[in-house]
Amino acid sequence: MPRQARSNETVVACLAAVTLFVWTGCRPVSIAPRAAAEGKARSGGNVAAALVFHRIEATIDPAEHRIDLRDEISFPAPKRRRRLSFALAGGLDVESLDPAYEVAEVGDGTRGARTSGSPGESVLRAWMLSPRGGSWTGRVSVPLRIRGVVHEPPQVEEGEYARAFSRTPGIIDSAGVYLSGASHWLPQLELGPFAFEIGVTVPSDWHVICQGRRLSVAKEGDRRRIVWRSDAPMQEVYLAGGPLVEYRRSGEGLTLYVFLHRADEALAARYLDAAASYLAMYSQLLGPYPYPKFALVENFWETGYGMPSFTLLGPRVIRLPFILHSSYPHEILHNWWGNSVYVDESGGNWSEGLTAYLADHLVKEGRGQGAEYRRDTLARYRSYVRENEDFPLTEFRERHSPATEAVGYGKSLMLWHMLRRRLGDEAFVAGLRRLYERGRFRRVSFGDIAEIFSEVSNRDLRPLFAQWTRRTGAPEFALQCRRLSPSRVRVRIEQIQSGAPFRLRVPVALTVEGKAEAQVVDVLVDRRV
Ligand SMILES: [Zn+2]
Repeated sequence: MPRQARSNETVVACLAAVTLFVWTGCRPVSIAPRAAAEGKARSGGNVAAALVFHRIEATIDPAEHRIDLRDEISFPAPKRRRRLSFALAGGLDVESLDPAYEVAEVGDGTRGARTSGSPGESVLRAWMLSPRGGSWTGRVSVPLRIRGVVHEPPQVEEGEYARAFSRTPGIIDSAGVYLSGASHWLPQLELGPFAFEIGVTVPSDWHVICQGRRLSVAKEGDRRRIVWRSDAPMQEVYLAGGPLVEYRRSGEGLTLYVFLHRADEALAARYLDAAASYLAMYSQLLGPYPYPKFALVENFWETGYGMPSFTLLGPRVIRLPFILHSSYPHEILHNWWGNSVYVDESGGNWSEGLTAYLADHLVKEGRGQGAEYRRDTLARYRSYVRENEDFPLTEFRERHSPATEAVGYGKSLMLWHMLRRRLGDEAFVAGLRRLYERGRFRRVSFGDIAEIFSEVSNRDLRPLFAQWTRRTGAPEFALQCRRLSPSRVRVRIEQIQSGAPFRLRVPVALTVEGKAEAQVVDVLVDRRV
């Protein structure tokens, strides 16, 4: 589909910014931060959070891999369900501490009968909670005691690729503790998001970190008791820790922490400085940071995890100098995308592409290397995603191979870049801010995002999102460039991929003799010749 590009001056060269998607090779665009962050409360204690509350008191015995805890769960009486089902890790037992409520194991009670214990997946036992006689009434408060062993050493899944870390559904060990929703160490009654307060008793040289605000650290005999509280609505409770040295910096309702295995003041200072500046930058760009603290926690095996209000990085990863401005801002930014605006996974995980775009990519762009970063992203898509490995973004959950990374991070990142070019920086940032404001502590899908950006920009962006999220593949172009006269050049762009043509605007950059900056013309390409 030929289009003419005119110029008043002599065109001596034409340079096409044509790759798989759209690559603005010549015109760096910068995201201008908007007005300063508004002074809203940082810990979004909202109505939903108050509905379900877990008050937990736990003791951890690392050498024996044991946990012994009391979880008092309060919630409004469920209307339709008399029996609430939940699953716990195979090594845990549970009992009700109030005779008004009954907990019973479902099934044959055989340990390990529920699921196989492959890495990343617990052996589970199923339980039922119900009122003994009668039904649920008023506001319910059920005290449960849970105790037993959680010890699944981290393993690399078979067939994993080089970037994969070992995974475990949960472990309590002398080296440290890591428990999450996938550990099934607390009953998840499917009553919706919840707030919690947790006191944890550990050896005296240990620290543990959860979501929320740390209320206290106290010495109790030869042990230490640490209390955390999260008022923001959560979907699971993370507990990470071990023998750790603490560094802390407090200010303006926000506390920054670094927890390391060995004292290293200089390293801690670098992470505290970086956290302060990235949190300020993203708060200004997107809206106020949603949590009362941010912590970097050194893990006891290699990971790169981002939880609400903290990140868990492995010992080697933490000491790689480039992490400070690559993985670290990425994990910090997940507090906006993924860890407060939650992903509605039924419609595809959009948060990795957006986080990569506004962290890894934005850092590079700030150094004048944005185009290079995007070109590498496109090259990875072309190299790693064979036709039979391709899938639409709506099917992306998490990366587990170079191909899933090239789609779920790479192709997704380019969608955000195309959206930004289409809307301009101001509307793009306004859309991001509205997405954060509306989506905080809710599950959001690509469909919701298309609605929000359509509303902000006053355009129907649903077809754009549909094209890039619901189908596989990417356009491939053939380019012809012919000079018609000293001042005219004809550019012909053909879509040559198999399958239906895409509809997109391809930026074509023309460099004019005597001028350093290229002239960029957006060419609409929407059919095949
Ligand atoms: Zn990520």
